[in-house]
Amino acid sequence: MLTRIAKEFHWEMAHRLPLHMGGCQNVHGHSYKLWVELDGEPDSHGMVMDYYDLKTIVEPLVKQLDHSFLCDRSDELMMRFFHENTLKVNYVDFPTTAENIAVYLLRQITIRLRESQNVPVKRLCVRVHETERTYAEVSQEF
Ligand SMILES: [Zn+2]
Repeated sequence: MLTRIAKEFHWEMAHRLPLHMGGCQNVHGHSYKLWVELDGEPDSHGMVMDYYDLKTIVEPLVKQLDHSFLCDRSDELMMRFFHENTLKVNYVDFPTTAENIAVYLLRQITIRLRESQNVPVKRLCVRVHETERTYAEVSQEF
């Protein structure tokens, strides 16, 4: 029977949206929450995927983002700042909205899931909460 499993992850991260007309153009941070959902047929051990294996795949991505600044390479002001200051930063080629972060994480997790063998996953869904009341969600069929 098609079954869904899910695991929750957290990290703290700063960002800004330089072209935003409101407060989001300022440097600020969020306590991000990530839900990773996998749909699949449970194997002979009754598992879609071992939660431990899912954590092994996702946790390094979250650790890399945690307590960093997520910097859009087109943000010249912040690019200059991080060129002159050694702080934890991750560079990306997109505006750092929850929507784009969800797509980024979906792609990263998809690559790692495809490298794992014998994972009977039919669908991956990634939901990124920027706040308790807002999230962006993307999914990928396998
Ligand atoms: Zn924000």
